[in-house]
Amino acid sequence: MSPGHLIPMVDLAKLLAQHGVIVSIISTPLNTIRFKSGIDSSIKSGLQIRVHELKFPAVQVGLPEGCENMDSLPSRDSIRDFFLAASMLQKPFEELFSDLKPSPCCIISGKNMAWTVDSARKFRVPRIFFDGMGCFSATCTQKLQSSKVHENVSKFESFVVPGLPHRIELTKAQLPENLNPGSPDLVDVRNKMVAAESISDGIIVNTFEELELEYVKEFKKIKSGKVWCIGPVSACNKSESEKAARGKNVSLEQNQCIKWLDLQEPNSVVYASLGSICGLTCSQLVELGLGLEASNRPFLWVLRGGEKSKKFEERIQGRGFLIKGWSPQILVLSHPSVGAFLTHCGWNSTLEGCCSGLPIITCPLFAEQFINEKLITQVLGTGVSVGMEEKSGLVMKREGVKNAIETIFDEGVEGEDRRRKAKEIAKMAKRALEEGGSSYINIETLIHDIMQQSLSSVEASS
Ligand code: UDP
Repeated sequence: MSPGHLIPMVDLAKLLAQHGVIVSIISTPLNTIRFKSGIDSSIKSGLQIRVHELKFPAVQVGLPEGCENMDSLPSRDSIRDFFLAASMLQKPFEELFSDLKPSPCCIISGKNMAWTVDSARKFRVPRIFFDGMGCFSATCTQKLQSSKVHENVSKFESFVVPGLPHRIELTKAQLPENLNPGSPDLVDVRNKMVAAESISDGIIVNTFEELELEYVKEFKKIKSGKVWCIGPVSACNKSESEKAARGKNVSLEQNQCIKWLDLQEPNSVVYASLGSICGLTCSQLVELGLGLEASNRPFLWVLRGGEKSKKFEERIQGRGFLIKGWSPQILVLSHPSVGAFLTHCGWNSTLEGCCSGLPIITCPLFAEQFINEKLITQVLGTGVSVGMEEKSGLVMKREGVKNAIETIFDEGVEGEDRRRKAKEIAKMAKRALEEGGSSYINIETLIHDIMQQSLSSVEASS
């Protein structure tokens, strides 16, 4: 129930349906509105996707009416209430589930719905966990959890993550909250999620094996083999209209941004987007904006909820385009005018950047984004970091943004090398989902494994 989870899960539903199974998506009314137009054409074309709604008890827990997604919370302090409301969906979910025909043989659930483990046990079906992270960050996280090396260092002192094929250095300040709890308020909620993950019947990961091969192997070892890499899920959106409708409905502004891109030179534009829930402070937004401006490159910047500055808009007119609402991200990334992607390194954006064949400018903000940055800049070699300054507490500086943009467009050997690697990765991503590709085979295996588990549980109960 946040865009970064909802969007790939809807893509996953489409992918599974494309492999011939019946998929029921269970969501809440306002979340359904966000993705319905994106799947309508799939349903019309014959894919067996059914959508069911449960009323979200927002008001019952003290949230404003209509608050059904993390991106509409009045403040961070309401997260606990949000999780409480989500846990109240268990009973209506089970009532709905028992009426579904044909009776489902599996529950696939995101991490925020820990209670689906209990529901799955009640209905004697496997509960598969859909992980929002890649295998690289999941492996790093696990290595830190078991070694605890990060617990003996100060906030900005760097340490090496042990037991990895690459030398990955991080600081405590860069770690996600589950490894570095800033506030104790959500510890119990987080513990429930971790417990649910560890007893789930397998994990679906939105990645493809060729992208992070050594880490997929490592993660499979950690999870005793029950890992299916079936991505990149965004590739199930093939037509322009499907790409445009992904995540939210198409708006006028979206059409205008594509028209603006059409007017730009090939490979010239920096596309800058920091995800669906922008955590930047006002002063950080200013640094990013001034860095983009100083780069002297055309840029398309998704500035959701940012302060408006008339002067800035006047200065960048013609050279910069601001999207103040929702960007049709995968459509933009596939546009020939875009030459680089400046991202906060959320896992979906990281993967979408990899699939687009673009070099990446990394600007991580929170969660496992600093770990994803290491994957891009050190393991894949397709990106450059804006370099968040640690002295003043991980802040972005306009010079850092400008320098990273200059480096990424550099026409020397290193720049060429990054662009070549990025293009190769995009080709591998495309191949992974084609018939016979690694993700294609893994989806077939997943469906087969679920059927096997389902048959054995029917036999056990008869
Ligand atoms: N997204 C989009 N338009 C926007 C912002 C985000 O389509 O204006 C999509 C993006 O393509 C990705 C998801 O929203 O699929 C964001 O997920 P990610 O993991 O990158 O970051 P989060 O928002 O969870 O921090």
